[in-house]
Parts: sequence; C-alpha cells; structure tokens
Amino acid sequence: MKEIIIATKNKGKAKDFEALLEPMGYKVLTLHDVAPHMDVEETGVTFEENAILKAVAIAEELQATVIADDSGLEIDALGGEPGVYSARYSGEQKNDSSNIDKVLQKMVQIPEEERTARFRCVLALAAPGEKTQLFEGVCEGLIATEREGDNGFGYDPIFYVPSLDKTMGQMKPEEKASISHRGNAIRELGKAMPGLSNN
Ligand code: IMP
Repeated sequence: MKEIIIATKNKGKAKDFEALLEPMGYKVLTLHDVAPHMDVEETGVTFEENAILKAVAIAEELQATVIADDSGLEIDALGGEPGVYSARYSGEQKNDSSNIDKVLQKMVQIPEEERTARFRCVLALAAPGEKTQLFEGVCEGLIATEREGDNGFGYDPIFYVPSLDKTMGQMKPEEKASISHRGNAIRELGKAMPGLSNN
C-alpha cells in the first residue's frame, strides 16, 4: 500500500481521510505517526491560507508529499460565522460540545428556512520544490435545532443534510464521505492527480 501524510492531529479528520483514501489504495499517516512534535499555527484568515501554511511547512520539514486540510462551517444567518474560526468558536480550548452550544444558542430565534449553512474544505497538496495545488469541496445543509447522532466530530451532530434526511452525526463514515465537503475536495484532488486516483 502507498502511504500519504495528512497534516492533522485531529482524529475525526483522519478517519474521514481513511474512509476516502484507503479505497484508493493509500495508507493514511497523520502527524501523530510521523511528526508528533510539530504544530503549525493557523494564522491565516482564509481556508486557503491556512491549508497552504500547514501543507508547505510540513512538506518542507519532512521532505515528503503532504496533504493539509483547512475546513469549517459557514452559517448564513450568522454572516458566515464561524468560518475559519470553527475549531475555536467558543474559545482556544477547541471544544466541540461548547462550540455546538454557542451555535445553537445564537440561532434559537432563527426559523428553519433561514438555517442554511455549508461545510467548506480546502485541501493543499504540497511537495518539496513543487508548486502547491489547491482543491475545494463544499456540502450544503441546515443547522438542526438540537443534536442528533454520536458519529463524526465537530459540528456533525447539528449539521442536517436534506438529501440523506439525517445529520452528519447520524451517518456512517462511508456515508459521510460520499457527500461531505472533505469527500468532495478529495475527489477533486483524485481527478487532478492520476497517481492518487484508483482508475
Ligand atoms: P481546522 O482544523 O482549522 O480545519 O478546524 C476545522 C473545524 O471545523 C473543526 O474543528 C470543526 O469544528 C469544523 N469542521 C470541519 N470539518 C468538519 C466536519 O466534517 N464535521 C464537523 N465539523 C467540521
């Protein structure tokens, strides 16, 4: 099996990448496996900037091809919040549960038809001495009024996907991968990189 390094320590994201890349013949390695000491600060103000920051720093450090993902939730009724601040919306401790509480509380008065939102994911593919490439994926949905399901991570329990009539928290990893922002971004990357596609 070929190996690919994902520049993340987030176990939820790593699982998403495994569901997507293992069927393509890749063993997914994360920073926990290859560089547990490394932490790249996300100082950018866009998903693109942060994905490039992470991918380039780690590709240089490890002298290897690296994929970094920056992603987040954009809620229309909150003017696009939490956006790039999704992980730390309720504070630097990056707590998924209190982030969800903050969103639900801010949206108490918002009617169903105005609860539209999307997850956005930008992937940067970097290799030493090569031009960094970017790929994007989105997934449209609605913010639920309460948590449903224990699967996934982050805002999954409150992100309802109408086409599957469930929240991401109620989806199995493969099911989420088939419609998710991260899945869509990885499928774009697979199309552009024959070496990463399974056909
Ligand atoms: P990042 O590590 O800066 O990309 O943080 C992304 C944050 O966005 C995560 O910590 C989650 O809060 C949220 N997020 C991104 N993708 C997902 C997803 O697939 N499900 C749920 N939350 C997500």
